[in-house]
Amino acid sequence: MPANFKAILITRDADKKQSVSIAELSESDLMDGDVTVSVEYTTVNYKDGLAITGKAPVVRRFPLVPGVDFAGTVTASSHPDFAAGDKVVLNGWGVGETHHGAFARRARVNGDWLVPLPGGLTARDAMAIGTAGYTAMLAVMALERHGIGPERGPVVVTGAAGGVGSVAISLLSKRGYHTIASTGRPEESDFLKELGAVEIISRDELSGPAKPLARERWAGGIDAVGSHTLANVLSMTSYGGAIAACGLAQGMDLPGSVAPFILRGVSLLGIDSVMAPKTLRLEAWRRLAAELDHGKLAALSKTIHFDDIIDAAKAIVEGHIRGRVVVEM
Ligand code: NDP
Repeated sequence: MPANFKAILITRDADKKQSVSIAELSESDLMDGDVTVSVEYTTVNYKDGLAITGKAPVVRRFPLVPGVDFAGTVTASSHPDFAAGDKVVLNGWGVGETHHGAFARRARVNGDWLVPLPGGLTARDAMAIGTAGYTAMLAVMALERHGIGPERGPVVVTGAAGGVGSVAISLLSKRGYHTIASTGRPEESDFLKELGAVEIISRDELSGPAKPLARERWAGGIDAVGSHTLANVLSMTSYGGAIAACGLAQGMDLPGSVAPFILRGVSLLGIDSVMAPKTLRLEAWRRLAAELDHGKLAALSKTIHFDDIIDAAKAIVEGHIRGRVVVEM
């Protein structure tokens, strides 16, 4: 491994204008941490797109290497749980936001943030899943904790052709749920059916202003979109159902009514992957390794290289990425 390595670097000028470039760093440029990792695979998540384009204030320390997740091999460690040669995965904890992130060949982090690469997954598999897929699993687990099993009725997934959506559909269909995929890209219908969606609905059905209550259409759902879409999804959830909310692709607002909560006993389950406790992460990764169909994982992911990251970041915020993008470092 050469002493210097390429990294994507986000900087900000005196007028707080953000710019992105490719820089050459050395290990002495990395931030404090007790584990150094050779980053083998990373991925471009929606949040990385926001960070690189500056469309939302994801990066809160400058200059910063973005990239919120990686898989790789430990090269040095003073943490009791990890030794050189261990395969590890990292998601969140502020990496790529306040701590130098994944878009560099090396990363130095707090060992408490790492989970061991689960048996049965390669480093590439782990990043084909990435933070989007791990979040989809956290959402599935939240629905299950709430008692929303396949026998309760259909479940809806919004932002279906995106990263969270495509993994969520694969996981839900494997567990026997009747899954309804909401997408703005009808040309991806065959792809979504291949992943296990039973019905496809148009994103337009859910993206306008919501009525307080509408016809009951599903017992549960995973929403990656927020805003009017989440308000509509809630208004169409059947009595006692639950929606796991994890995203904001349409917007951060929630222009809805309390009617679904107080008249139908509907629950809104918040999903945060960044600060999720380690026990939940270990369980999510264990289940991803055991339950996610490898054929579907291959179908929903494509591989790019370091020099393609900035273009992929732009494409993801414009909604042009299908499934998951894995970066081979
Ligand atoms: P992607 O860009 O891969 O997927 C988002 C999908 O949302 C798109 O593919 C598109 O699906 C749909 N979409 C995009 N723009 C709009 C719009 N204006 N109105 C309605 N639908 C839209 O992103 P990810 O799957 O990686 O992430 C999805 C969301 O989840 C993001 O907001 C991300 O920030 C959030 N997230 C949250 C996490 C957490 O910890 N809570 C962790 C990971 C992600 P289609 O074309 O099928 O309609």
